[in-house]
Amino acid sequence: MITETILLKQRPIGKPKLSDFEFLKEDTDLAVKNGDILLDTIYISVDPYLRGRMNDAKSYIPPFEVGKPISSGLVAKVMASKNDHFNEGDYVSGMLEWKTKQISTGEGLIKIDKNSAPLSAYLGILGMTGFTAYLGLTEIGKPKAGETLVVSGAAGAVGTVVGQIGKILGLHVVGIAGTDEKTEMLISEFGFDHAINYNTTANMKDAIKKACPNGVDIYFDNVGGPISDAILFNINKFARMIICGAISVYNNTEIPQSMSVQPFLIKNSALMQGFIIFNYADKFPDAIKQLSTWLGEGKLTYKETIVEGFENTPQAFMDLFNGKNKGKMIVKV
Ligand code: NAP
Repeated sequence: MITETILLKQRPIGKPKLSDFEFLKEDTDLAVKNGDILLDTIYISVDPYLRGRMNDAKSYIPPFEVGKPISSGLVAKVMASKNDHFNEGDYVSGMLEWKTKQISTGEGLIKIDKNSAPLSAYLGILGMTGFTAYLGLTEIGKPKAGETLVVSGAAGAVGTVVGQIGKILGLHVVGIAGTDEKTEMLISEFGFDHAINYNTTANMKDAIKKACPNGVDIYFDNVGGPISDAILFNINKFARMIICGAISVYNNTEIPQSMSVQPFLIKNSALMQGFIIFNYADKFPDAIKQLSTWLGEGKLTYKETIVEGFENTPQAFMDLFNGKNKGKMIVKV
């Protein structure tokens, strides 16, 4: 059976390049042993956090190995099964390798229902990024109606969902994104109250002040760096800052010099807390139930940027750092 695989050829230095990846095409005997399933990949999730796994550095998840396949969230169809928990024709999602076909023991995979939602949704709104938005905002942000929420990386997979949940919960919601097309989309399609284009705004500190006349109570941080520094000048007493991502520094080769945050936290009795979705696994059933309910009620919507072709997976991943996506970036194999 012909199988294609994408390997990490070398650890990227700075922004990832196509030459950091290697493509392998082989005719292999994918024998299904007792307990195994044979999977055919349908969708691949590309995510900013994969960049961190390409470095040889300690983190909350082990680094990828050079010369080995890259893995991320996938949706796949079971082509053959010798595993009691899965039948031929089932659809599954979970952490799998960047391969067109692969054998799995089924460990860590969940069955998904293609009649309840489009299969790609299980990599976004009903998957890791949707859970991140919901659990990050509710568990650390602890929103109260009438408060002000600012979200950076607002036009992406996590950000679009955070902002909409903020509106459902009665917050004043301000998004920060990189183009006028994206800021207009946040207001017209996702119901944000205000949106700021960080690429055309000379003074972010003043722009945030203007967009948040009552100050910032909750900051959902997807980007880090100077955008997040500008928020600190506008936080209220007892503000909560959810540190979810720092994409603006993921490709840095040296540790960036940052503003000292402590005086802002002390003066405002504010909380800044790192968020890792895997720490909230016990709450995933609650998250999927709530997100599905809101989707069903039409209170929540989502956007996907679908890139066609397995061979375009590395480019789709690299384009996250160029802001090419609106909503969730997904590869259709
Ligand atoms: P995403 O927002 O869909 O895609 C990345 C977006 O980041 C791009 O579209 C781009 O939009 C923006 N961006 C790229 N470079 C930037 C820069 N230098 N400064 C500011 N913005 C930049 O990605 P996502 O999957 O929703 O993830 C968002 C963040 O959450 C990432 O940092 C990710 O690592 C993090 N995350 C964390 C967890 C966790 O458990 N902690 C889970 C999921 C995601 P613009 O055009 O607006 O620049």
